[in-house]
Amino acid sequence: MFENLSERLSGVFDRLTKQGALSDEDVATALREVRVALLEADVSLPVARDFVKAVQEKATGQAVTKSITPGQQVVKIVHDALIDVLKGEGEPGALKIDNPPAPILMVGLQGSGKTTTTAKLAKRLKDRDGKRVLMASLDVNRPAAMEQLAILGMQIGVDTLPIVKGEDPVAIAKRAKTQAGLGGYDVYMLDTAGRLHIDADLIAQAAAVRDVANPRETLLVVDGLTGQDAVNVATEFDDKIGVSGVVLTRMDGDGRGGAALSMRAVTGKPIKFVGLGEKMDAIETFEPERIAGRILG
Ligand code: GDP
Repeated sequence: MFENLSERLSGVFDRLTKQGALSDEDVATALREVRVALLEADVSLPVARDFVKAVQEKATGQAVTKSITPGQQVVKIVHDALIDVLKGEGEPGALKIDNPPAPILMVGLQGSGKTTTTAKLAKRLKDRDGKRVLMASLDVNRPAAMEQLAILGMQIGVDTLPIVKGEDPVAIAKRAKTQAGLGGYDVYMLDTAGRLHIDADLIAQAAAVRDVANPRETLLVVDGLTGQDAVNVATEFDDKIGVSGVVLTRMDGDGRGGAALSMRAVTGKPIKFVGLGEKMDAIETFEPERIAGRILG
């Protein structure tokens, strides 16, 4: 569907005669292509603009390296600048889960992949890190969501907190904490209720749970295919609840990964994991290199 940016840039430069340094005009021509490619990859306009400006400053007047073509050189500058924005502090995928039992709060809109991601992460913690994990669903308005987590738990061999009808989310969170302590769990994961849109009720509920659980990590799950919406959701959740990291789901889809760039540029929050499918193993640590490659095409 998309033209390949690397090829497009090389094409632009092949038409120009070789000079000793990248001229303003060369760079301007190339950066028009970069801007279009970013917008096609669903990067938001202000982010694309700022990014292009930063690249322009880096590229202008840079001596042309003998071994690579000017086109390749601009692609490299763009690539390195993408990595700079995409990579957060710390190791990607690292979670603060010392001092057991460590609470992890999972938040996000309904349909973002929150419950699936909760189970995927629990499985990962169990399989890769040898952790004992307890999962609890706090979605009291949707019994089906509670059942879904219990079924996933059985599939992956991770315990879920037994469902008690009529309990409110705060009471469930407290019971999960007690159970995690008594049962010798390393981690307990609280899968909060999702809604289709952020509303005061959703935020109040998540905040109340946060206050009793005092989570070591609050992970926001957002659909990576929703582009700018994903960034707005993240900004709002972070303002109201505080988010320690983001999980971008559906990165196996057609999207070009632009949401990741906007997410980092706008919220500054680390993207810790990406979801790459519906299966329980389809989660990976976020790799800036990979996303940069995808945006560049
Ligand atoms: P929740 O409402 O946020 O808890 O969303 P669910 O966890 O129920 O997920 C909604 C749908 O998205 C389910 O059909 C999941 O299998 C699917 N899903 C979740 N994560 C991914 C992902 O990374 N890639 C794809 N392709 N589908 C996903």
